[in-house]
Amino acid sequence: MEIKELVYNGAIPIFNPSKLETPLEELLLQIGGALTETAVLLKGADGQAYYPSTILLQNEKLRELGLKTIKLLKDVDVKVKGLIYVHYDEYLSEEYGTVESDGRRTEGFICPINETYQEQFLKILEEISQIDIDNVILLLTGYASALHCFCENCRTTFSTDRKMPANFNFSLLQGDKELYSEWIEWRSENIKMFLLKVVEKSKELGLKPIFAVELDPNLQFEEGLKSSLGIDIKNVANLFDHLMIMVNPWEVILPPVQSKRFKELVQRVRNVKQQTNRNISLIYWPPSEEELKTLLTINEEVEGKGLYVFLQYPDQFKNWRETRIITP
Ligand SMILES: [Zn+2]
Repeated sequence: MEIKELVYNGAIPIFNPSKLETPLEELLLQIGGALTETAVLLKGADGQAYYPSTILLQNEKLRELGLKTIKLLKDVDVKVKGLIYVHYDEYLSEEYGTVESDGRRTEGFICPINETYQEQFLKILEEISQIDIDNVILLLTGYASALHCFCENCRTTFSTDRKMPANFNFSLLQGDKELYSEWIEWRSENIKMFLLKVVEKSKELGLKPIFAVELDPNLQFEEGLKSSLGIDIKNVANLFDHLMIMVNPWEVILPPVQSKRFKELVQRVRNVKQQTNRNISLIYWPPSEEELKTLLTINEEVEGKGLYVFLQYPDQFKNWRETRIITP
């Protein structure tokens, strides 16, 4: 769908400054006052910064493009949220990458307990706080999948105190019920501690972070988030005022309105809202006309604060999907 149509139908566009097909000046003339809110990508999945950064990949043209995009929007009083990928970065993952149970490195994804990365991430927040944005959306947070992370640091840290060798893998954990549940708790505690740091730093900087929750049948919706990504949603949601629900991000197809699967999806979104007692918005990839109808109906039924949509599928989508849906 065209941006114009999306906006007229009430969706909020997410701009990738390097992928605007129509120059923004022109677009703003076309859609004028209909556009009141947007999100702009600040840190690309490839590690590219769209603002001045000392940590991320730098390209003068893209940096200027990012800053210009935000300025043009702010000049016409459009609210701008920044968007960053948290545990996915093809550039920084070369140093802080995550490892699957079988010992293979997983391209682009990052080990959530890596302390140097955590420090870098807090510095990225510092850099971002210098830009004129209203909030920052945190996307792709958590472990890469249920079979992560088995990097040396994770294995050593977990095995110390547990009288076990550091060369364990997922099958060993799976075969020991008690140990497995310790592993799950340990992972979710790690994510919580990291998010606590993020939230504290954001407060210091006057940034309001919004946490994006991946609600997907392949991850057993909200019930599987803890064992797959290490996210205990009831436990971390209270760190944030606002949640963004990524609806069926890895399922590819959205069910049509009033189908059985549609009703289940609405109930799942409602569950997250009720369990966390937070404001919620929805977020999705570029929707077809039919999908837009589904998404707007869900937003209405759960009294969401809005629907954010990507304008293109990210180049990494296939890799993300294949990694996220790995099941033990
Ligand atoms: Zn690790």
